[in-house]
Amino acid sequence: MTEFDIAIIGGGPGGYAAAIRAAQKGACVCLVEADKVGGTCLNRGCIPTKALYSTAHLLGRIRGASKHGIDVGEVSFDFGKAAARKDEVVDKLVGGVEQLLKSNGVEIFRGKASLEGPGRVRISRRDVVGHIRARKIILASGSVPARPKALPVDGKNILTSDEILAIKGLPESLLIIGGGYIGCEFASIFSAFGTEVTVVEQLPRLLERSDRQSVREVEKAFKERGVAVHVDTAVKSLTAGEGGVTAELSSGETVKAAKALVAVGRVANIEGLGLEEAGVELKDGAVLVDEGMRTSAEGIYAIGDVAGGIQLAHVASYEADIAVRNALGKEARADYRVVPSTIFTLPEIGQVGLTEEQCQEKEIPVEVGRFSYQASSKALCDGETRGSVKIVAGKKDGKLLGATIVGEEASTLVAEVAAAMQRDMTAAELGAVIHSHPTLPEMVKEAAEDTEGLAVHKAGRRRSAAGDK
Ligand code: FAD
Repeated sequence: MTEFDIAIIGGGPGGYAAAIRAAQKGACVCLVEADKVGGTCLNRGCIPTKALYSTAHLLGRIRGASKHGIDVGEVSFDFGKAAARKDEVVDKLVGGVEQLLKSNGVEIFRGKASLEGPGRVRISRRDVVGHIRARKIILASGSVPARPKALPVDGKNILTSDEILAIKGLPESLLIIGGGYIGCEFASIFSAFGTEVTVVEQLPRLLERSDRQSVREVEKAFKERGVAVHVDTAVKSLTAGEGGVTAELSSGETVKAAKALVAVGRVANIEGLGLEEAGVELKDGAVLVDEGMRTSAEGIYAIGDVAGGIQLAHVASYEADIAVRNALGKEARADYRVVPSTIFTLPEIGQVGLTEEQCQEKEIPVEVGRFSYQASSKALCDGETRGSVKIVAGKKDGKLLGATIVGEEASTLVAEVAAAMQRDMTAAELGAVIHSHPTLPEMVKEAAEDTEGLAVHKAGRRRSAAGDK
């Protein structure tokens, strides 16, 4: 029986990154994948949604082309072609990951893996069963969409994100249950494509953990595109029939739609892994890990969505590096203080660190700097002036605590703040960095300077000479 230094279960952005990193460090590595490498991220998550998002974004730009004097006539849209392009993007990236694994000498086993005793993994594929031995095992089996019984997913009319990403025709109407980032991203995409969208969220607002003012921009955009939003509202019943789906809401209203998307969270994928027998403890349905991604069982690590925590692809990849270092005898600890993330709504929200409201809840005194896209020369040139940059810094020491950016390229802009936070910089230090002109990142500089009232392209806050900074 082959013995590996490290066996990895699951080939998503956690598992494949762990496999490549371990191989780069000279370990003999294998990866077991039940489906396609790339996991949720490449096959059913980040990538297919962002391919469709890109189409939705481009459609918006084309529809707004007349303000540049470009007459494109009547714009037509073929969902089938957009979906086929999305599939091509996915296939290309999945093929790329397979190549990377092979070129790094990672052995790939196809099949469903489960733990069977210390250092042993069972792999089953249809009726064939194999066994491997490994000194260390990394669990990276990811997560699956939550399917509460009350919202009976049938894969035909009542869908999760897995199924909606595989539909071939554009639904006339779509009821989205859940106003978190997945629900809101699909609401943006499908409403841009012309689908009549309704979002129902049981919490008092959409995108609950994000900066309030930024969420308002998204809500405004939803309103303009005719997206109906019901917050503070639960779905009491959901049924599928011939003509589509019907939902009874706690408000007493009834919503009918061609299809429903259930986007009410994701649960750790632990089924059939043999965790209990292996002595791997769980917490809140996910694998319990310490700061070094070690589980309660000797020699077994867990990373990414299966380990609970922040369910993002780049966090899974970050944890992969921590687990590999520890599995190879080094000492590494995960640090989640600076985790940027993007909500790909139209407009998109880029965020890192704490929001202004979170600082208030934690009673941290802060200075807030703001800069509007309307005041950015580049945004004006582009004709994309919706949005703002908001930077939060400690009142006492000026250290950067967080940022939320809503608008064009927010996903890209937030990276600079994340880098500055990682280096423990103050807002003044970030504001002192020379930015090329005219660019959108100048807004980051100005918002950082605004924490001290020193943004140049912002109406002055009058002060006395004695109060000058
Ligand atoms: P996964 O990507 O879930 O991979 C786990 C892999 O393990 C799968 O391939 C599965 O087949 C395999 N597996 C499971 N059990 C076994 C077994 N027993 N044996 C063998 N193989 C097994 N994150 C972002 O950062 N940015 C985004 O824009 C973003 N958009 C998203 C959009 C949607 C619609 C969804 C659903 C998710 C999105 N995410 C996004 C989240 C992101 O996809 C996940 O956080 C990420 O994929 C988690 O990576 P992972 O490696 O932990 O697990």
